[in-house]
Amino acid sequence: MAKKKYDYLIVGSGLYGATFAYEKSRIGKKCLVIEKRAHIGGNVYTEEIEGINVHKYGAHIFHTSNKEVWEYINQFAAFNNFVNTPMAVYKDEIYNLPFNMNTFSKMWNIKTPNEAKKIIDNQKKELNISEPQNLEEQALKLVGTDIYKKLIKEYTEKQWGRDCKDLPAFIIRRLPLRFTYDNNYFNDTYQGIPIGGYTKIIENMLKNSDVLLNTDYFDFIKDNEGIADKILFTGPIDAFFNYKFGPLEYRSVRFENKLLEKENFQGNAVVNYTSKDVPYTRIIEHKHFEFGTQDKTYISYEYPCEWKLGIEPYYPINDEKNNALLSKYTELAKNTKNVFFGGRLGLYKYLDMDKVLESALNLSKSVD
Ligand code: FAD
Ligand code: UDP
Repeated sequence: MAKKKYDYLIVGSGLYGATFAYEKSRIGKKCLVIEKRAHIGGNVYTEEIEGINVHKYGAHIFHTSNKEVWEYINQFAAFNNFVNTPMAVYKDEIYNLPFNMNTFSKMWNIKTPNEAKKIIDNQKKELNISEPQNLEEQALKLVGTDIYKKLIKEYTEKQWGRDCKDLPAFIIRRLPLRFTYDNNYFNDTYQGIPIGGYTKIIENMLKNSDVLLNTDYFDFIKDNEGIADKILFTGPIDAFFNYKFGPLEYRSVRFENKLLEKENFQGNAVVNYTSKDVPYTRIIEHKHFEFGTQDKTYISYEYPCEWKLGIEPYYPINDEKNNALLSKYTELAKNTKNVFFGGRLGLYKYLDMDKVLESALNLSKSVD
């Protein structure tokens, strides 16, 4: 057995593991962070290509209403004043998101909130939905039939690979609906992109920890059992227990990237494609996150895809079946001494970055 050397073995160098490592090393605990990928940062990893910070695992916009979290993340990087204002293309039409007066005026050629409300109310009245039972009913109840058909139904079915009637209503509730001319995708008080990319934040967080890349926990632990007093595991909780009750399901994404010899491809960081005849859900043009003026541009197409063991898990599918499975794993986790589970894979929960920070800070306060 290897000699015990560390207070903590932290599995995963994503935002959760890095925040925890920072907090513990700050108070003198010795931390070893192991990461199976060839780089730190997990899904917030950014890589500089032709002077552009590329979000390698999908667009990441930091937003929060928690002042403490905002101040906390700002100690590791300066943030710019980027505000996410995505566009949506449906066939030959283009709309502003989230659903707001710009969307409605384009859709129905109207100007006032009253006109928009009247149209939506008329469309809703005919449907007579009291308690929405699924995403379709929730969306129709919120915005009526036109918006649902052009901007929600086909996009959502592409994204999740399921009929909107078979998806939980909560997925759509996080999108704002406004009767003002405001294209801000988020309602949060604070928003921005770290100048110079997210990877620098993680580097700063890990500066007092030892880090091993290309190191999978399950191989590593065979020869290093007892290397640390405690373990924080931010990989998939079901993998930790060797899929004892079967694997939890995810939705995955395939990214197709292109460097283009032109200055500006789509005029916006995020453009969604909401019709089913286009196979991808959105195109990200990375330079616009940092108001880039480079001669070239780098774009990523996001193709949603089925997930199977061995490919990158992205979105947990928190339906009844998977949640029941999760509670079995959570029960096992509770009884596993000196191992803590955290992050979006360890908790099997879609967490925005601010929630990941909150959760990692809380855990670090509650364990020695
Ligand atoms: P991860 O970043 O997944 O880190 C876990 C790490 O553990 C990974 O590096 C992995 O390689 C490693 N690992 C796993 N298993 C092992 C093992 N066996 N051995 C060693 N290492 C292992 N949030 C926002 O706030 N704003 C956004 O705009 C936003 N956009 C997103 C877009 C997409 C496409 C996705 C999928 C998520 C988005 N998020 C966004 C959420 C954000 O990505 C997460 O909040 C954050 O990355 C989670 O950090 P984490 O440390 O929990 O997990
Ligand atoms: N959505 C939609 N049309 C859009 C954008 C989003 O119907 O143009 C729905 C879709 O169901 C999606 C959900 O809203 O899964 C949440 O969207 P968000 O942009 O927050 O998704 P994420 O960035 O997490 O992929």
